[in-house]
Amino acid sequence: MLFTDQHRLSFEFYPPKTDQGFKNLAAARKTLASFSPEFFSVTYGAGGSTRENTKNVVLSGIEDGYAVAPHLSFGGDSKESIATLIQAYIDSGVRRIVALRGDLPSGYGDGSRLVHASELVEFIREQFSGQLQIEVAAYPEIHPEASSYDDDIGFLKHKFDCGADNAITQYFYNLDAYKYFLEVCDKKGIRHPVYPGVMPITNLDNLERFSKNCGAEIPRWLSHRVRSLAQPQDVLEFTTDFMAGFCEKLLDMGAPGLHFYTMNQIEPSASICRKLGIVEKNT
Ligand code: FAD
Repeated sequence: MLFTDQHRLSFEFYPPKTDQGFKNLAAARKTLASFSPEFFSVTYGAGGSTRENTKNVVLSGIEDGYAVAPHLSFGGDSKESIATLIQAYIDSGVRRIVALRGDLPSGYGDGSRLVHASELVEFIREQFSGQLQIEVAAYPEIHPEASSYDDDIGFLKHKFDCGADNAITQYFYNLDAYKYFLEVCDKKGIRHPVYPGVMPITNLDNLERFSKNCGAEIPRWLSHRVRSLAQPQDVLEFTTDFMAGFCEKLLDMGAPGLHFYTMNQIEPSASICRKLGIVEKNT
């Protein structure tokens, strides 16, 4: 199935560290905006380490007229300081937040307490009622720290019960995992949309390293195929075809839309969107 008007599209960025990175991101946002995404989202560094940069990217996107959703976790912050940040976001026009637990920044000992995403969802609903749409994270291949498959889905349900509206998944390359995950969610009474997170394949070394930590499995044949392609253009062509076919199958399975992990790049996500028949408008 190709992408239709009924499907939701969103693109995720991370906050850059340099002026050049900010310029590149603005260019990527402008190009990807032509696919009419419902929103862009901007990640939040572990422990709140990108608090200011995340805010700058969010606010500059809103100033340019886009819908932008900051990612947020309690990190080590107090409720007061998180409430102040959320109020500043709302005052600037933010209408959606991606609420997370986050991970500890590297170098932190086990002494620090991570606050589960459900507590942040609950806090937002208590303090800001219905002013924000709330997205939470979901894991078709199960979160690496989960005590069990059923517990993990139970905790996802708890996030919805606390007031989350939608979930966005960790990226994955295993269609069966998503299909089964949706079936189990349905059996557990989860009726909220679960949007698959789509990670275009670009730098395989980085992707493999990152996937080990976040529990995403890269099929062996896929990694061998990509490694055997010498020219960047051949890699882009193969991975675009593969990912577009993968996304079509996700939509066939009933995925309500797609959330792209852009890694602040234009081309991998844009070429997949074009293959999926997503209409480009002048921006
Ligand atoms: P939680 O929902 O709190 O779950 C974490 C673990 O605890 C799971 O194993 C779960 O089974 C368990 N659990 C959940 N609730 C409870 C409970 N009440 N009691 C006991 N156990 C519980 N990380 C960042 O640092 N910044 C980002 O911007 C960011 N963006 C992301 C966006 C998406 C779409 C996704 C899928 C992930 C993102 N992450 C980000 C990564 C995420 O923060 C990590 O995967 C983190 O380890 C878990 O976050 P969570 O919100 O899923 O946590």
